[in-house]
Amino acid sequence: MHEFSMVSQLVEKVVEEARKRGAKRVVEVELEVGQLSFLNPEQMLFAYRILTKGTILEKSRLTIRTVEAHVRCRLCGFDGKPEYADDASYHVSAPLFLCPNCGGPVEVLVGTGCIIKRVRLEV
Ligand SMILES: [Zn+2]
Repeated sequence: MHEFSMVSQLVEKVVEEARKRGAKRVVEVELEVGQLSFLNPEQMLFAYRILTKGTILEKSRLTIRTVEAHVRCRLCGFDGKPEYADDASYHVSAPLFLCPNCGGPVEVLVGTGCIIKRVRLEV
């Protein structure tokens, strides 16, 4: 599952960081998830609960914030939200984003990844 591998990488990173800072435990992890990453927040929370068991992150809170996508058109220079249907089929195949202005190919600037915004530690 997409969410499980993502959360597993996230947990590893936070554990490493917490260790480096000599933290006793992790209190909260704040995530920013791009709209176009198609990560399901509920699935992520579920994965988080399972994957943090027995780690320094156990019982910590996971906060997920969704970040809206932002694209730029290579043809007309349009800058803004892409046009795409929120269709379930997009979750299995890679979606193609088009410029709402001219229909040309766009470059995704924001919204595909998942980043750790903040980690609260108890030291
Ligand atoms: Zn365009």
